[in-house]
Amino acid sequence: MNEKLLIGSHVGMNAPDFYLGSVKEAISYGSTAFMFYTGAPQNSFRKPLSELKIQEGRKLLQEAGIDESKLIVHAPYIINAANKNKPDLWEMSIRTIINEVQRTAGFGCKTLVLHPGNHVGNGAEVAIETLAEALDKVFEKDGTDVKIALETMCGKGTEIGITFEEIAKIIELSNHKDRLGVCLDTCHTSDYGYDLTDFDAVLDEFDRVIGLDRLLVIHLNDSKNPKGAHKDRHENLGYGFIGFDTLNAIAHNPRVSDIPKILETPYINEKPPYGKEIEMLKSGKFIDNWKENF
Ligand code: FE
Ligand code: FE
Ligand code: ZN
Repeated sequence: MNEKLLIGSHVGMNAPDFYLGSVKEAISYGSTAFMFYTGAPQNSFRKPLSELKIQEGRKLLQEAGIDESKLIVHAPYIINAANKNKPDLWEMSIRTIINEVQRTAGFGCKTLVLHPGNHVGNGAEVAIETLAEALDKVFEKDGTDVKIALETMCGKGTEIGITFEEIAKIIELSNHKDRLGVCLDTCHTSDYGYDLTDFDAVLDEFDRVIGLDRLLVIHLNDSKNPKGAHKDRHENLGYGFIGFDTLNAIAHNPRVSDIPKILETPYINEKPPYGKEIEMLKSGKFIDNWKENF
């Protein structure tokens, strides 16, 4: 296998090095791509870009030969733009997304992953319309060309965006379709009920319903639960119900060779597993008991 695998993980962004530290962390795992939050994942409090050592980070990216256009930003997951029962909360979600899109552009990145949100009792159909309306408000104001990649969800609680059809509907309703793409999360997709053992069949289905050109990023995670469980608990590669062989085949599928694959697997004994997981994917070989011996 000597194709250049576009593989990385989510990385932190902490004082004192901030983005420079994120890039260093990614390089330490042997990454060729990565994903980060521009602040804490669970809230929308954000430091100004000027404090985040972005120029230093971008310089190191260039030296390392990492293609900036393949880097991914993830929006904070408190956002719910799919419900406007409380209009001020909905407006706040829209403002938060605008801010995140602009911050993404500020890092020189092109793609922001967003969870489609929850219908909270209104039903998926209404929520999908509400989200499409919110996204159009974002695209009418943000002044960037950053794309929003809607993440496929597993169907826990009242999540929307759980089938390819729902994602396609959100895009269809938008007046700014050129700004929308998709993030396919393997744990979520399996937990919803898609069978990833034949990934070509899943890609065919994705292509038929959404269009494969919309696929912008893959979250490569094993799952602690069997197909259809609607749980969303990520597992380390080879230790879940999807399994290493299926995930490795996804990583190396030629139809997604130019799509970055991002690991969001859990830490082991408070240590990041990504160096080891990336090593296995690069070689295409599972290392027996790697987690037990980690
Ligand atoms: Fe996510
Ligand atoms: Fe994900
Ligand atoms: Zn997840």
